[in-house]
Order: sequence, then structure tokens, then C-alpha cells
Amino acid sequence: MTFMHKLTVAIAIISATAFGAEAKGPTADDFAKIVKAAPDKAPAKPAKSRKVLVFSLTRSYRHASIPCGVKAVEAMGAKTGAFTTVVSDDIAMFEPEKIKQFDAIVMNNTTGELFLPKNFKKLPADKKTAAQAYDKKLKKSLKDFVTGGKGLAIIHGGLWCFLSTWRQEYSEIVGAEFVAHPWHTKVSIKIDDPDNPVCAAFGGKGFDISDEIYAFTKPYDRSSQRVLYSLDTSKMKLKDKFRGKRDDDDYGLGWIKQCGKGRVFYSALGHDFHVYWNPAILTHWLAGIQYALGDLKADATPKPLKAEAPMKKKTKIVLLAGSGSHGAKAHAHAAGMDLFKKYLDAAGKDKGIETLVIKNDWPADPSVLDDAATIVVYSDGWARHALMDKEKKRVEKIRKLIERGVGLACIHYAVCPPLGNDADFQKWVGGFYEKGYSQNPHNNVEVRPGAPDHPLCRGWKPFTTNDEYYYKIRFGKDDKRLIPVMTTMLPKKKPQKEVIAWAVERKDGGRGFGFTGGHFHKNWAIEDCRKMILNAIWWTAKIEIPAQGVPCR
Ligand SMILES: [Zn+2]
Ligand SMILES: [Zn+2]
Repeated sequence: MTFMHKLTVAIAIISATAFGAEAKGPTADDFAKIVKAAPDKAPAKPAKSRKVLVFSLTRSYRHASIPCGVKAVEAMGAKTGAFTTVVSDDIAMFEPEKIKQFDAIVMNNTTGELFLPKNFKKLPADKKTAAQAYDKKLKKSLKDFVTGGKGLAIIHGGLWCFLSTWRQEYSEIVGAEFVAHPWHTKVSIKIDDPDNPVCAAFGGKGFDISDEIYAFTKPYDRSSQRVLYSLDTSKMKLKDKFRGKRDDDDYGLGWIKQCGKGRVFYSALGHDFHVYWNPAILTHWLAGIQYALGDLKADATPKPLKAEAPMKKKTKIVLLAGSGSHGAKAHAHAAGMDLFKKYLDAAGKDKGIETLVIKNDWPADPSVLDDAATIVVYSDGWARHALMDKEKKRVEKIRKLIERGVGLACIHYAVCPPLGNDADFQKWVGGFYEKGYSQNPHNNVEVRPGAPDHPLCRGWKPFTTNDEYYYKIRFGKDDKRLIPVMTTMLPKKKPQKEVIAWAVERKDGGRGFGFTGGHFHKNWAIEDCRKMILNAIWWTAKIEIPAQGVPCR
């Protein structure tokens, strides 16, 4: 090594650590790590000699990790003999006569309109027409290649192609459309299909990795592809998790699927360089490519999420209305619940949702609660709480349901727990009105969504009204579960942000919700107020909240 060479290497190392290596592209050292990490043995013996095209053209964002991908695929093929690699960014490779020499194509972080010339927009009309005809021919050829029985393997950004001209078709081939990359951090991955040979490299165990993590939308669906692994959102803070914006929390990151007679493998990892010298990832990718080649047999039958299966089953919402205590205009529990039922019935029609109002606190036959998805209590509190009885039978019944993951929502005075159940309510609902600490003034104040990205805050805006908003609610200390659904500034004299509606996802899988307003019946006439509470009722029943919130006009 010459002095100058040493100096260059030293500078490269310094800049890699000080300024981030990714902007500069991989170093010789990085390539050496990739070759070393590539597996020595392929999981399957090739049925015949195989030829793989690594295609890395970008017409949009260009990942600096592209050379890592090229090196990784080359090394996998060369070290194991599973295939020979052709590296080319020439779109002519996709012409029907040329594409047929390949057994699989790796879309290595390809982006944009791959088959149109860079200067397409500036072309004269006749050249444009010719370019479009060629583009169409290559797309058809790619599709025929896959559906006719060959393989397609896509790394990370490689599904971010043809968004202007061929979005739906390409997304359907690949199995998803990219919507965002909400996370670029260390995340936990869970293995969804531990016995699938394509992810045998992980030994059935989830793992942590730092990378840019994608969120997908339709056609991504577990009923149309076999998802191998996904983001483990249970290990994320709620506020981080919600950045993905999927109601089902299903962020699949690797899958295989049958596409006509061919096979598709996708792995969303591969933004950061180090992913390419992670031996488990490379072993997994090789298995994925061999699946695409048809050499590694793997079950690609889609496995829909369990939650999707019980669609036919009814979702039951039980509204427990306490007897009134303040006349017709305030604490009008039964009238309020009747109103909620009216809107929920209309919104839930054809969705298999059944809403039941039980008046005078508690059902004559408590078994009616057994198959409830959520229980909503709008009643007086403490000794007059709907869940209060001398023998504590009611609260113990609720405890059993909670253990099974049933939702519990409490409105207004009902956030004052049955006597002796403060700690339970903090666990079940997330917070409670504590005697001597919490406050209950009547105030005309503006209230606003406290977690705008959360489904609970969909479709309603800030509004101002007079209500008895209790505040200084007793929440658990540093309770990470807490979602501040609605906030206001109280007290009037020395205003501070106070949470007056909140929600939690409990460890048992169930959901809790509390709202301290709801003193005056007339406030339910405010559409925003009504929508907030209807969203909350559905959310605790785990019903998906529509983009504009639960309709309630
Ligand atoms: Zn990326
Ligand atoms: Zn009140």
C-alpha cells in the first residue's frame, strides 16, 4: 500500500465515522465485509444452471447502497454456485428476446420510470410516442417474464417504480405500494413464518436492526402474499408506532408470493450499508432469490391475519347507562346512550356491529356482557357508579372481561371509580378522578384534539362549549400507554394544558378510554364532540375508524 493510498483509506475511515459513510458510497473495506458475510452454501441445489440479472437503474431517488446490493448478489452467486450474475442497467435487457436468457431478475433499489428515457418530457411528440411504445413493450415483457414462470426479487426501494405510469400493475406484481418511511432507527422485527425455508436464516427468532423502515398500503394484504416477517410494533412507543398510520399495525417487511406461474420475493431491508454485510440477511436473501428461481421450494400460500377472520362474527358494543341524577338536561345518561346508539347503528350498518343500550346501570342478566367487544359506562360515580354494588359482583365481572381483552370506556362522572377500585381504573381506563386531587369546574373553554395522528382524533376539530370538564386526572406515573385524545387549557386563572379525554392500550390487549366532559346533554349536539365519543366507542371495540371518523351527521 502506497503512502497516498494509506492516506486515502485513512480519510475515508475518518469521514465514514465523522460525517456518515452513506453519502459517499461503500468503500473497498465495505465490499470485503459483504463478500465475507455472503453464505458459502446455498439452501437449495439449483435444478439447472441459473442466470440472474441485477438491475439497479434509478430514474428517481438513488440509494447510495446500490453498489452494496450488486456486490452482495454477485458474492452469493459466486460463493455458492446457485447462479451466475449479470450486472446491467441497460433497459434493453427487458426486451422479450433478451430477458428470456434470465431465470430471475433482482430489482436492486430501482426507482422511477425505468423504461422511459430521462429526458422524456423534453422529447418531440413523435419521439415521445416511440418512447412510450417501447416503455409499454418492456413492461409487458417484464410482466410476461414473471407470470410466465420466472422469478423477481426486489430489494428495499425496488418497489418504488413506475408510480406515474404503471402503479397498480407493478404494485400488484410486487405485493405492495410504498406510502412512507416513517422510521429510520433501530427497530424490532418479528418472524411471522418461522418454518418457512425462505426465512430459516433467522432461526425463528425476531431480531433488532437499524434501517430505514417502510410502511405500505394496498395491494399489501396478508391474504394475497405470504408475509415472512414484519415490524414488531409491540416493542415501540405508541407515538412512534402511530407514525406508520396503519390501523391494523401490520407492517410486513418481507414476503413471497406466487405471481401467475412465477414467483416474487420482496425484502424491505437494505437502505443502510451494514444490512449488506449482515450474514443472516444475506442468507435470507439468497433463499429468497432461490425461491424466485424456483429452486427453493417454499409455501407461498397467503396467511391472512387472524383479526381478519372473524369478520362474519358480530361485534357487540354494550352501553351501560346509569339512572339520571340531575334532571333531563344534565347527566342524562340514558338519553345520551340512546343518541350514541342511533348514530352507531347507522354507521355500523352492514359491518356486523351490534350496539345495545342497558338502562338503570346493570343488566338483569349479566351474561349479555360475555361476548361484548367493549363496555361503555355513562353513569354517576363512586357509590352511585353503574359498576358499584355491595358484593362487588359487577366490578369482578368486569375484571374477568378485561382479562379477556374487552374494552372499557367511561364518560363523565363514570371516571370516578366504584369505591375501592381506583387502582383498577387506572389500569383499565388509564386514569381516574381522584377525590381531593382532581377538579370539576364548569367552564366555557376551547377543547382540541391532543393526538392529531391517532385514529381517535379523526374527523373532529377544536370546538368551544360550556361543560363540566374535570381535570387534573390521576394518570399513572410516566404511563407510556397514555394517548391524550382531547386537551384544554385549565384552570382559567392559570391555564395549563390538561388532558380531558384519553385512551390506553392495555397489556391484556384490550383498550380503555375516559372522557371527563358530558355533563350537559346539549353538548352532544356538537358534531365534533359527538364524533370524538363515537370514535372512542368504536376504537375500544377495535373497529376500524374511517378516515373522517365515525359518521354522525
Ligand atoms: Zn431507503
Ligand atoms: Zn356533571
